[in-house]
Amino acid sequence: MDRRTDVLVVGGGATGTGIARDLALRGVDVTLAERGGLSAGTSGRSHGLLHSGARYAEADGPEARACLEENRTLAEIAGACVRETGGLFVQLSEDDPAYFEAKREACEEVGIPTEVVDGDTAREEVPDMSEDVERALRVPDGVVYPSRLVAANAADAREYGADVLPHAPVTDMRREGGRITEVELGGEVDGTIEPTHVVNAAGPYASSIAELVGATVELRPTRGVMVSVDYDRLEPVLNRCRDPDDGDIVVPHDDEVVLGTTSVPVDDPEAYERADWEIERSVEDCAKMLPAVADAARLRTWWGVRPLYEPEEAAIDARGISRGFHLLEHADEGVANLATIVGGKLTTYRKMAEATADLVCEHLGVDADCETATRRLTAADDPARLDALVAEFDGQGPTDEDVVGS
Ligand SMILES: Cc1cc2nc3c(=O)[nH]c(=O)nc-3n(C[C@H](O)[C@H](O)[C@H](O)COP(=O)(O)OP(=O)(O)OC[C@H]3O[C@@H](n4cnc5c(N)ncnc54)[C@H](O)[C@@H]3O)c2cc1C
Repeated sequence: MDRRTDVLVVGGGATGTGIARDLALRGVDVTLAERGGLSAGTSGRSHGLLHSGARYAEADGPEARACLEENRTLAEIAGACVRETGGLFVQLSEDDPAYFEAKREACEEVGIPTEVVDGDTAREEVPDMSEDVERALRVPDGVVYPSRLVAANAADAREYGADVLPHAPVTDMRREGGRITEVELGGEVDGTIEPTHVVNAAGPYASSIAELVGATVELRPTRGVMVSVDYDRLEPVLNRCRDPDDGDIVVPHDDEVVLGTTSVPVDDPEAYERADWEIERSVEDCAKMLPAVADAARLRTWWGVRPLYEPEEAAIDARGISRGFHLLEHADEGVANLATIVGGKLTTYRKMAEATADLVCEHLGVDADCETATRRLTAADDPARLDALVAEFDGQGPTDEDVVGS
């Protein structure tokens, strides 16, 4: 296969498929190349919390605001790709009450609706909740099923003319006169493509894609573990109300809850240690909120790697690195037609895609507005069709394996 395209998007996670959908809806000729099945990277291996923004409210107001907006947008457009469960930030007796107050005030400032409930009220809602829970802050957190979300974005992109190519790894890129002229795709495609513009949405692999043309992306990837256990009596997401730490979040599914997570820097997004202590600490800490999970059968364990961006001047502690997104251009490194999008959250993928599509359209001279916030996703209201799309794109990640296709 030798072909040309206006925009080649590298990476079939939430960000890449979101960009392909956005560009296709604006009438741009776009091709998406993913090295594995869709969702093979971080998107399919996340915790699956649809953030309300409350987690970031006091530390990063803009990111919290972005989460809140996108949480509301996805509730409108994403149907069965998300579930509106609500969430509780719980304060245990060992937690600092001043932190709880600061969280509540910060949520108010950001515009996140909250309600303070006492321990007994929280236990009425979550019967197995620890006696040690003193109070809780109700927030509009939810659950996202990333395999469905990614497949629905890809299907929409395809419906509007995009070429979506799973199992098509980018293996090389050629640069001439300060531009990428040709990209080699391996796997099931095994050919070259001539793009006008390239978008690097390869998540934790973004540095290796940029390096193919001598450009740099300073990532500081961190790994985190998720443990899914057999438990079907939780409705709201549980978040520990303390400075972000290991084992802070319990995400409810139908018959399982997903416990996690950790944050440990890794050198290589693929070959990294998967340590037992991360599993044990996640279960142990989540059990402080919901003791029943300590002895529940452990059904599945997986790790994911966050594509966090850390330019040299940025902060040092892995949890201190911004969870906001970064859209980079590489013209000053001699590559005028390459953009890289890294960082961010699954929750904010659509906003990341919009910013990227705006930039690319400016380069291409395309004058078209973003429509992704108001158009419902393909098959959003038909879980069986969504799951068929997941299968068609070979897009099943571990995060929602128990729900999708079940
Ligand atoms: C432990 C953990 C928990 C998280 N929990 C949450 C959460 O609860 N809520 C939330 O909102 N966010 C969460 N996140 C963050 C979120 O998952 C990520 O920010 C987001 O999924 C990144 O999506 P992406 O599309 O940018 O990257 P990815 O999903 O990694 O997509 C990049 C894709 O590029 C592909 N690729 C790589 N190399 C090539 C190549 N050479 N050719 C073609 N394709 C290539 C990869 O296979 C991959 O599919 C979590 C992250 C981690 C690690």
